[in-house]
Amino acid sequence: MPPASSFYRAIYSEIEEVGWEYLISLRDDLSSLSFRVLDTKGKAHIMDIELPKNYPKFAPSVTADVPFVCELKWSENSRLKDVVHQFSEEFWSTMDDIDRALLVVDPSQQSHAASFRQIGLGNDCYLLLSINANDPRSLPECRFFGPDNIVDSMIKNWRKNIKRWTRDKSFPENLANILETSLPGPPDANKDDRQIDCGICYAQCLPVDDELGGMSGSAPDYTCDNPNCSRAFHSLCLRDWLRSITTTRQSFDVLFGNCPYCSEPVAVKVNNSE
Ligand code: ZN
Ligand code: ZN
Repeated sequence: MPPASSFYRAIYSEIEEVGWEYLISLRDDLSSLSFRVLDTKGKAHIMDIELPKNYPKFAPSVTADVPFVCELKWSENSRLKDVVHQFSEEFWSTMDDIDRALLVVDPSQQSHAASFRQIGLGNDCYLLLSINANDPRSLPECRFFGPDNIVDSMIKNWRKNIKRWTRDKSFPENLANILETSLPGPPDANKDDRQIDCGICYAQCLPVDDELGGMSGSAPDYTCDNPNCSRAFHSLCLRDWLRSITTTRQSFDVLFGNCPYCSEPVAVKVNNSE
């Protein structure tokens, strides 16, 4: 016997709440349907939902291409949008917190399909974390790797401080508290420490040359003001480059031209301390 029309109407309005654009398939008898769900990184996951005959009194069963089995919190008043919501949010936002704040070495590509993260702790030490996908903010399972003496003291801290783990704090914060140390961040966070090449001569340092006076062997000392460019140059290179361009204007001892990368105005003194 086909479902009553009231059942159709009810399910249709629930699909409406999720958004028809996310619906991939729907069985004629409404026994199952699939949604395409985007995670916080914009990656699509397929979520298959089976509706029991006495839905919504009984919870639907959900399967998806994610590393965890979702234990649904369900009541008679729950709706499909609650399923879609529960399905992902906490787990993915926790993984994002980890990827944003810590030095993840494995998986090398940030992945929403994996529930583990191996992170660098410094001093050649690594920590493999298995995040509980059903309760991502809970204490993770972990395994330390590295030189024995350092790892031993980390394990000691871990055991001593295990009770300090709290849901009120973010995952990276909890980890730092429990290990009693500050943890290295992702490589991009250290970007400013990296040495920068000049955008004109492509070298980090000018040659060591007496003719260059104070500039001899120096690092780039000029940065384009355009925040979207921020390209670094040796002011010496920029000056030579501006001099070779016919549109460059000089006023007193300053050359006015355009950044070779973004064309925003740049200005550099003609005679530096040579
Ligand atoms: Zn240069
Ligand atoms: Zn620029």
